[in-house]
Amino acid sequence: MAGYKRGLSVALVDQALSPGMGSTFTSGGSLGLLDKTTLQLGGQALESMEIYRSTSKLIEAEDLISWCGGYVPYFDDTEEQGCLKIAEVVEQLGVKVDCVDGKVLRQRVPFLSGDLSGATVCGSEGRVRPHDFCTVLFSYLKDRNAFDWFGGHRVVELNLADEVEIACEQRSGERVVLSSSFCLIAVGSYAASLGDAIPGDVQPRRGLVVSVDPVSDLDVVMHGAGYLGARDECDPGSLSCGFAFEPRGPVWRLGSSRELVGWSTDGTEKVANAILDDAHRYIPGLNQSRIRRIDVCWRPFDRTGEEEMVRAVGGSRIAKAITAQEGEGITLAPYLADRVVSGFVGDD
Ligand SMILES: Cc1cc2nc3c(=O)[nH]c(=O)nc-3n(C[C@H](O)[C@H](O)[C@H](O)COP(=O)(O)OP(=O)(O)OC[C@H]3O[C@@H](n4cnc5c(N)ncnc54)[C@H](O)[C@@H]3O)c2cc1C
Repeated sequence: MAGYKRGLSVALVDQALSPGMGSTFTSGGSLGLLDKTTLQLGGQALESMEIYRSTSKLIEAEDLISWCGGYVPYFDDTEEQGCLKIAEVVEQLGVKVDCVDGKVLRQRVPFLSGDLSGATVCGSEGRVRPHDFCTVLFSYLKDRNAFDWFGGHRVVELNLADEVEIACEQRSGERVVLSSSFCLIAVGSYAASLGDAIPGDVQPRRGLVVSVDPVSDLDVVMHGAGYLGARDECDPGSLSCGFAFEPRGPVWRLGSSRELVGWSTDGTEKVANAILDDAHRYIPGLNQSRIRRIDVCWRPFDRTGEEEMVRAVGGSRIAKAITAQEGEGITLAPYLADRVVSGFVGDD
């Protein structure tokens, strides 16, 4: 969209046969602010939300986004202090954050545990259905001949000179080489599939989302105060779970885990149970037996702790990678794409 808006001729290459696959297909769709620990990240999230708003209007996909508001419930004083610190950051961006005590919290979200002593609340948070949004955006742009689509083409090699040469392999094994003035690489957790092209040490960090029957029809997104600590944990082999909650269609999606186990899908039942146990602390009425599905997906995680999500490929000005968005790629995607394209066309 960002390239199209700026009059570029765009080719979209994906090894998948349809858009919005990868982690975007299965992950959560919370558009969050109360997990943004710095002014920079919060500002980027706000810009993204603006682009989501205007784009959803343009492509008539407003029903795929709900600006339902978000809660971060906490159990004790230590958790409350952590929440208030982030609330301060978000308020500095001019976004209102309320603090409610346990009584008010249960009036508004009656299914939450009586052990929770309060929550921070941000009315500007929301949720999107990422795959459906990509599908509508894709068909809007396709109808306008806004790009050439190379679905089922796996990028196997990049050569950088005055132009970028992109070698792709089709499912039949046949090779196609594309040349372009600019190249934006956004392969999420599959960074290693491009060899050394993407700087840093981006690896897949596994996450499970467990979908269950809803206990009520309240539309709200939430994550527990302990979620941020779980995000910082990065010991290989360790399992950390942080409570996150998102209604989507007929189910409640609960999550999620963070595990450095490569692309393995082993042990998912144990992890799903750990997620449910954790969610049960927040929602005692959760009917643990009615699991509707378990999604396994992988976050693009940089183990070096490198925070920059837009990276020059091979030191080049004409090839950039968006990577290491970890658990915020859905929220930040529009902002990041816009920033890369602005850099290419020089209106940064
Ligand atoms: C459990 C979980 C919950 C999450 N919840 C949220 C949330 O609530 N809010 C939020 O903002 N973020 C969330 N995230 C993070 C978010 O899902 C990711 O940051 C985001 O999906 C990454 O998007 P991406 O486009 O970079 O990668 P992907 O969505 O993985 O897409 C990568 C694409 O690249 C293609 N590809 C890969 N290699 C090649 C190749 N060599 N050639 C051609 N194509 C290739 C793949 O086919 C795929 O289509 C969550 C993640 C997880 C795991």
